[in-house]
Amino acid sequence: KVPFTGLPGTNYERTFIAIKPDGTERRLVGEIIGRFEKKGFKLVGIKILHPTPEQAAKHYDDLKSKPFFDGLVKYFSSGAVVCMVWEGKDVVKTGRKLIGETNPALSVPGSIRGDLCIEVGRNIIHGSDSTQSANDEITLWFGETEVTNYESPLEKFIYERK
Ligand code: GDP
Ligand code: MG
Repeated sequence: KVPFTGLPGTNYERTFIAIKPDGTERRLVGEIIGRFEKKGFKLVGIKILHPTPEQAAKHYDDLKSKPFFDGLVKYFSSGAVVCMVWEGKDVVKTGRKLIGETNPALSVPGSIRGDLCIEVGRNIIHGSDSTQSANDEITLWFGETEVTNYESPLEKFIYERK
């Protein structure tokens, strides 16, 4: 059985992806989910919630010494966030590639931030930056029973071997 935080280094690696309040407000949820789906990754957890400032601060704990931290906490807790767990081979690293650079101005066209947003302080999406942070973030935002294990017959078309 796959642990709910996934198995890094296998086809069952998992990452935490969140559509930030601006992405949700701008009706980009379907567009963003579509990009991860079309790539071949598997959605194993999803919910929408309005984070408290305390939850936002905990999520961004590693950035608490940054000058933009207070603004970031305000931004992340300003509205509805779509929290997701995505599964697949190298999904942490490849998910970050789909997302693009932190600053949308430096993100290549074709990436989510490169195509859909302009400023670093309104960059519409979050993705875990390592398998360790994926583990921590999935645990912060999801309970064990909120993440699902399922096999799809499509997987033989997505992976050469399981
Ligand atoms: P990410 O992993 O690419 O999201 O980037 P970081 O973990 O470094 O920063 C978290 C979030 O803080 C980013 O996605 C931005 O929304 C915000 N952020 C990062 N750097 C800056 C900055 O220089 N100015 C502002 N206003 N926000 C920033
Ligand atoms: Mg980060």
